[in-house]
Amino acid sequence: MSDVVLARKYRPRSFDQMVGQAHVVQALTNALQSGRLHHAYLFTGTRGIGKTTVSRILAKSLNCVGEDGQGGVTAHPCGVCQACTEIDADRFIDYIELDAASNRSIDEIRDLIERAAYKPSVGRYKVFMIDEAHQLTKDAFNALLKTLEEPPDYLKFVLATTDPEKMLPTVLSRCLQFNLRPMPPEVVHAHLQAVLQAEGVDCDAGSLRLLSRAARGSMRDGLSLTDQAIAYGAGKLEETGVRAMLGTVDRQHAARLVQALAQRDGAAVLDSVDTLRAMGLSAAGTLEEVAMLLQQMAIEQAVPGALDDNDPDTAGARQLAAQMPADETQLLYSIAVNGRPELHLLADDYAALTMVLLRLLAFPPRGPAPGGAARAAPLAAAPRESRSRSPVPPAVAPPPKAMPSSVRPPSPAPKAVAPGPVAVPGNAPVARAIEPIPTRQAAPVAVTAAAAAEPRGTPSDEPPPWLDDAPPEEGYEPARTGSQATTPGARTAAPSPAPAAPQWQRTALGDQWAAAIRTLISGGSIAALVRELALQAELVSVEAAEGIPLWRLRVERESLRADPLREKLLAALQASGLEPLRLVVEAGAVQDTVARRDTEAREAAQRDAETLIRNDPAVRELMSQFSSARIVPGSIKPRTPSDIEPQRTDPP
Ligand SMILES: [Zn+2]
Repeated sequence: MSDVVLARKYRPRSFDQMVGQAHVVQALTNALQSGRLHHAYLFTGTRGIGKTTVSRILAKSLNCVGEDGQGGVTAHPCGVCQACTEIDADRFIDYIELDAASNRSIDEIRDLIERAAYKPSVGRYKVFMIDEAHQLTKDAFNALLKTLEEPPDYLKFVLATTDPEKMLPTVLSRCLQFNLRPMPPEVVHAHLQAVLQAEGVDCDAGSLRLLSRAARGSMRDGLSLTDQAIAYGAGKLEETGVRAMLGTVDRQHAARLVQALAQRDGAAVLDSVDTLRAMGLSAAGTLEEVAMLLQQMAIEQAVPGALDDNDPDTAGARQLAAQMPADETQLLYSIAVNGRPELHLLADDYAALTMVLLRLLAFPPRGPAPGGAARAAPLAAAPRESRSRSPVPPAVAPPPKAMPSSVRPPSPAPKAVAPGPVAVPGNAPVARAIEPIPTRQAAPVAVTAAAAAEPRGTPSDEPPPWLDDAPPEEGYEPARTGSQATTPGARTAAPSPAPAAPQWQRTALGDQWAAAIRTLISGGSIAALVRELALQAELVSVEAAEGIPLWRLRVERESLRADPLREKLLAALQASGLEPLRLVVEAGAVQDTVARRDTEAREAAQRDAETLIRNDPAVRELMSQFSSARIVPGSIKPRTPSDIEPQRTDPP
């Protein structure tokens, strides 16, 4: 191949050869054909996308005389006349390119303006092209303004800039502006393929793909990189070589990272970063490749099937798109692109990369994965069938005073099921939940009935107990059972720290014991450690030893087996008219205790209350009206029997 660099060799010499920028080509072609030419043009756009090329073609169009020397202004310059060949060779006397980056002072502009006073030497038009025009000094701009305003008929200005924001408004207003756009990778890809074929250079699909992406929308950069890659690969292009030359991180590394993040596997993220470090791959390149992958995933999630089937990366992106919820994909993309400037803030850019990637894991998982797997944190759940026997009627709070009565739900027991702690943030990002105010005419029975009427599914299609709660709704986080302040009625049972509840069965002896203990507690005849013993103990047998009734208790905590506690409990039982004349407290694992029954009931009540609130029509309406409305986690509390005791008075 020739030693002329590809970018120069394949620079378009006519509008017909221009790749991309069809909107600019079309407008200029029309202007040239109709003779409606403006006296000053401004081409904007990033570097290497054809601003100078368009300017040169425009200059040729204005000055071309055709092969026979008889032609006029044309949109299709001949390419062979003096004007065409000399402009291509950069030596046409009436076409002047000035790089404002290095000629930015008023003196250079004055010189230019002086030359503008003379008619074209050989051509039809003088064309002054000022590249990087935003770099001119203010004085230089001002000196230029008058000529821009009223140029002689034979003079055309072309200004080009990568930064139109820095141009003086008075200059902008005098120019006809065209914005040249970065070329999509597939356009660069097609052009590179054609160029390499014309050059007879072997290349594989991967290397072309990498080069067209690395061009970042600039055909000139794409061709320059291809030049470099040909030199690097000793005349041919292979993906591994091009990847090494570009410092591009293999898509597999990006995919592994995204997969680990989709699975919220922090250890795998660390492993992957360690691998990158060991291989000496660029942290910035990794983030970029991750962002590209996420962008493809987002496209697949939004418009399934829209990705290019011929792109070898498509299959991997589709697979990952199915593993990560769309909102997480967006969030991670944002984290990846915004994290790039952070990389150099740490001496160790891999540590910075780790920090950026782990950021996603700092956000709580939201919603079910596309595969349907529930992502909610496991909740302790008691056997379901015990719910209807709950001794603690679930109830929910009445509406806050601010709630307009018109949004109260039509319900047989409106006060019992009316929405309570719903936060509807206005300007505040998070509004505080309104604490429930217990009322005595709340109808716990009605609520229980309503709760029981909730569809629960058949046993066969029920989820396992640890997935008891439905996947949380948008913005909803399940309340942490056991982390709330213990309500008065529930204080008799130790708060459960809420790990998965062990499987245990209710027994007839358990029923007998629970009934006995509730009598003692409600009568106030046991307290403190004696009550604790009663709550934590399981009644394992009732027998008669030598004709004397003997109740055998079992308890796990050795400290509760102290004789004084047993004696006080026995005395209280006997005082309440129960039969045991002897009480034995042995050590061992317990199953059916009053404490466990209370915990289970409290959790069931909590779940029922949360379900009631979430399914409440008024709550649903609020949530749909206010996109930022959410139920404050932990703010839903079931009412306990003590909340509805007669001595409590209603709020007015
Ligand atoms: Zn010509």
